[in-house]
Amino acid sequence: MARLPDHSSVFQAEVLGIKLALDYCKDIQHIKDIHIYSDSRAALQSLADPINHNSLVQKTKQAFLRTRERLSIKLHWIKAHIGYQGNERADQLAKEATLRPSLDFNIPKPTSSLKRNIRTGLIDQWNDRWFMSTNGRQTYKYIPLAGLKRKTEIPQVVHFLTNHGRFQYYFFRFRLSNTQNCSCGQIGNADHYILHCPLNSDLSGKLVFDAENPPSILETKANQAIIKQIVDRVDTSILRI
Ligand SMILES: [Zn+2]
Repeated sequence: MARLPDHSSVFQAEVLGIKLALDYCKDIQHIKDIHIYSDSRAALQSLADPINHNSLVQKTKQAFLRTRERLSIKLHWIKAHIGYQGNERADQLAKEATLRPSLDFNIPKPTSSLKRNIRTGLIDQWNDRWFMSTNGRQTYKYIPLAGLKRKTEIPQVVHFLTNHGRFQYYFFRFRLSNTQNCSCGQIGNADHYILHCPLNSDLSGKLVFDAENPPSILETKANQAIIKQIVDRVDTSILRI
């Protein structure tokens, strides 16, 4: 099904129509008195509006002023669909144009769509870098897709997702501890304490997620409260450094 153009695209097309008519006038030699009719009140009002900063409106205004230096030219509003011969013909040509496979002109995109494209482009670029990076791999394991939506507001969950917390592994890494092992004897990193440590199995057993799909641990809201409890417990069991 064809997508209907949004309100903004229709407006841009109407202003563009007036600009094309003005551009056409550039080459007219023998007629000095020119009248351009448009059935778009919005387009005509935008041209009369001194503070409209739409770039196409600005360009159309400039085209109008340039043409007026050489010719007597007037813009008029005409009521649509009431049988004016020129207007009916313009409508008919516009309808035929919609059936053609390609466009003759590029209709400038509205600002909102540009902003959307820029945002999507930046997020794609961000994800490329996130995918290629060698840093933050603990976080990547749980959040492989970067985005603007916040995944958690709980600091203890951030400790788990980054491996940056009061964990033996972390202290050992920064030479603040002689051992990287949990008191159960295994390496005391974030994954160990939250997922594998037998000393925390009473809590970790309540986590609902698919072990083959680590990001799924963030899909269940209740998991975050459990992670917080485990991190708090680890925090109290490790000596203050
Ligand atoms: Zn342990």
